[in-house]
Amino acid sequence: ENELEKVEILGSKTIHVGYKISSHICEEIVSKEASSTYVIITDTNLVKAGHLDTFSAGIKASIEKHRPQSRLLTYVVSPGESNKNRRTKAAIEDFLLSKGCTRDTFIIAMGGGVIGDMIGFVAASFMRGVRFVQVPTTLLAMVDSSIGGKTAIDTPLGKNFIGAFWQPRYVFADISFLETLPEREFINGMAEVIKTAAIWNEDEFTRLEKNTKQFLQVVTNRKANGHVDLSPILDHIFKLVLESIKVKAEVVTLDEREGGLRNLLNWGHSIGHAYEAILTPQALHGECVSIGSIKEAELSRYLGILSPVAVARLSKVFSGYGLPVSMDDKLLQSRINGKVCPVDVLLKKMAIDKKNDGSKKKVVLLERIGKCYEPKASYVNDEDLRVILTD
Ligand code: ADP
Ligand code: ZN
Repeated sequence: ENELEKVEILGSKTIHVGYKISSHICEEIVSKEASSTYVIITDTNLVKAGHLDTFSAGIKASIEKHRPQSRLLTYVVSPGESNKNRRTKAAIEDFLLSKGCTRDTFIIAMGGGVIGDMIGFVAASFMRGVRFVQVPTTLLAMVDSSIGGKTAIDTPLGKNFIGAFWQPRYVFADISFLETLPEREFINGMAEVIKTAAIWNEDEFTRLEKNTKQFLQVVTNRKANGHVDLSPILDHIFKLVLESIKVKAEVVTLDEREGGLRNLLNWGHSIGHAYEAILTPQALHGECVSIGSIKEAELSRYLGILSPVAVARLSKVFSGYGLPVSMDDKLLQSRINGKVCPVDVLLKKMAIDKKNDGSKKKVVLLERIGKCYEPKASYVNDEDLRVILTD
């Protein structure tokens, strides 16, 4: 049996982290969760990488063993944030209805954050709610979006504006999925890993500081089939996934519906989302969060709360893992071809943050590495933000 760690969330150990654990995942689902119909929903990139074949074979074998009367359905959607919308959600629902799916349907969301968020929301509303599991396949989804029960789709006016809190029965993070993940997506997920250590876990942050070089070497070095050989850094990746998940699970357990503490996980995101609103789809979420984190760290420093040394350490880690830390980043510039982020536009975008109280803006302030200033986001002035956002 491969190494397997179980992390507790909301009172039960339902987050399983391991390497090459697909048979464990299939056995857990089918043996523990009785259903007449299991449905795997994923995207075409996961199909191309061979993961749907592996998982449907695994689920079928477990069905054969435990519940020969049950059936397996699969549904594949187009990848990307642009498909995380009402239209795709409706198409999935119509598929489930056309197959006669009932309240006992069990959904397996296999994919990155787009799949997890959208399929979670399908599960939350189909027949007033059906059980589902998250099988995150990107680093970002493993350490962040699959944990905590936030589900949503996007609308033209903003990301994640329509959704629900709906907890998965399990989250299964199998590190081996990351072997097929493209380099840029891998690096993207590191933004949330660094964010989590920065707000909550100084030891892990210090550990992350030590492993930047080897990480980039391994992740950028591809085999002939485009896959990555994780073996030199498998322990490092396992640990950083596990530590991020533990923090997120702890925070969610203390504040499931985001009454305050859960705000902390939004560090880097108040400003990051504003950049993302302008730079999407050319820049990815983690890339914008990286820039946003540094801006928010600079805000904390400007307000006299965080030391300049801490800002420098943060900047070094984000860039050490291959992320942009400002709009001047060359790689970022080559991707966004000419887009700019004027202060007034950024402030307008920040005004529609879900954390805000009406028109009062809130940002998570950092006191030092591993510790936030308040156990929630703090009120900030536009004048102070303006100083920080001006390049
Ligand atoms: P995120 O998890 O970053 O929120 P997505 O769900 O859009 O975002 O996933 C990012 C991209 O990576 C998508 O194109 C998706 O199809 C692809 N992808 C997800 N997981 C894997 C994987 N394990 N191997 C290869 N590609 C993957
Ligand atoms: Zn995020």
